[in-house]
Amino acid sequence: MSFSTGLKCRECGTTYPADARYSCDFCFGPLEVEYDLEAARGVVTRESIEAGPNSIWRYGALLPDPGVEPVDLGAGWTPLRRATRLAEVLGVRELWLKDDTRNPTGSFKDRVVSVALSSARRLGFTTAACASTGNLATSVAAHAAAIGWPSVTIIPSDLEKSKIAMAAIFGGTVLGVEGNYDDVNRLCIELVAEHDDWAFANINLRPYYAEGSKTLAFEIAEQLGWRTPDQVVVPVASGSQLTKVAKGFREFIELGLVDGGAPTLFGAQATGCSPIATAFADGVDVVTPQRPNTIARSLAIGNPADGPYVLDELRSRGGDCGSVPDEEILECIGLLARTEGIFAETAGGVTIASLRQLVERGSIDRDKSIVAIISGHGLKTLDAVVDSATVSSTISPSLADAEAALRFHQLVAAS
Ligand SMILES: *Cc1c(COP(=O)(O)O)cnc(C)c1O
Ligand SMILES: [Zn+2]
Repeated sequence: MSFSTGLKCRECGTTYPADARYSCDFCFGPLEVEYDLEAARGVVTRESIEAGPNSIWRYGALLPDPGVEPVDLGAGWTPLRRATRLAEVLGVRELWLKDDTRNPTGSFKDRVVSVALSSARRLGFTTAACASTGNLATSVAAHAAAIGWPSVTIIPSDLEKSKIAMAAIFGGTVLGVEGNYDDVNRLCIELVAEHDDWAFANINLRPYYAEGSKTLAFEIAEQLGWRTPDQVVVPVASGSQLTKVAKGFREFIELGLVDGGAPTLFGAQATGCSPIATAFADGVDVVTPQRPNTIARSLAIGNPADGPYVLDELRSRGGDCGSVPDEEILECIGLLARTEGIFAETAGGVTIASLRQLVERGSIDRDKSIVAIISGHGLKTLDAVVDSATVSSTISPSLADAEAALRFHQLVAAS
């Protein structure tokens, strides 16, 4: 059962039924799923949630109506781990990592796709599609395969080989576009107009898709023992995840499910694609599009759809937005792996490097609790690290050679 009641325009407040529409007829503003939280209060309880499945669908009452049953590969309910070794390096008191590498296709996109395709099936669609920087294509193709739907996923043709393989392996049609994500997105908006019977997860299904990101906030609060953290660092591409993480915390607070107030949110971007960090730093409301040039391909959206809403969320509670160069992204992939045993993709490097930058700048309070969202698995962007993460030494299969190498690496004392 879901307490969703329909859609509502974020700009003018016009309401619509929960059907296949994504922008307002009157002002072209984006639509958002609404809930009857009044009716949910006292019905959606800590106990009712804890009795649910170990997936995002434990929060089904606060997600769009999935119809008969959700399209579900088991997204969500990923570990929230206390990171004491990394906290020590960064000089912060209480750090937690939301390890969303541990999703069915290795990224947080499984959350949003499970919700989007569930709504798509309820609405009578039969083909799944998306415009993607890579991870979304993989997740859409996998979820479509699992329910026997055809899929059409559209990506920049020069993406990492590993990401293309992960999208293609599920057997759908993958179109590689000679251009960047913003070109892909423009093309897909034209395709939606031609094929309105295709469910583009992040375009015509976007209101439903976006709701999936709320489950990050729900899980963080539940896993902290039904309390909100003080500060959360969120990687930002289109900005959908950050705005819906904020919405998720607000809904839990409104339902009286958690102790503590709304956390301060912090964005994380790569300098090579940092339109939101730039607008934030310049103190302006308009996000000027940027041509992306960064190894963090999953975050390389130069013209972010939810940019202005991200700025509102960051400013409303004293947040900030990191902007980190590619060298620091790589360095922090290594730092996270060495200190906590988590192998993240480039987006995870962006999150950790931004966390470090924002702590050093004094925007993040070292003495208050921090959660950092690690949104994708390192196996997705192996290309980024294969040249630096190599064997320590190459040796012949002789004991003498092995011992010499171990002395060289200071694992045994030099004699
Ligand atoms: C898509 C994605 C994000 C965030 O994307 P938004 O468009 O801002 O919601 C973050 N990390 C990874 C790994 C992603 O694939
Ligand atoms: Zn409107």
